[in-house]
Amino acid sequence: MHSTAQQTKCLKIPRCLRCGRQHRSWLGIAKCRWPRNEWIVGDGQYVSLSLCPRGLTAMLHETQDDAQTSICIIDRTACGGQCIRMHYLIDLARSRGEA
Ligand SMILES: [Zn+2]
Ligand SMILES: [Zn+2]
Repeated sequence: MHSTAQQTKCLKIPRCLRCGRQHRSWLGIAKCRWPRNEWIVGDGQYVSLSLCPRGLTAMLHETQDDAQTSICIIDRTACGGQCIRMHYLIDLARSRGEA
């Protein structure tokens, strides 16, 4: 099988805005950016971030639409115990994620 459709995994990951290194995945960038994050899942450029008191959580998505949908869902259902609706969409390629 010499498939030419093997490029899907070779998404270009930009140099980390925080440490300047080249992480292997968006997940690597997210974990570098929020090192004390208790809960980071998924992989992708767009992050639905929750800063509610229960603890910072991040869900990574491949498209901005997916991340937006995810935020709409947690906005509606609340993300956990003490939800105060601090949910944000972060673009890892642009934002330094100072949140
Ligand atoms: Zn880094
Ligand atoms: Zn919340």
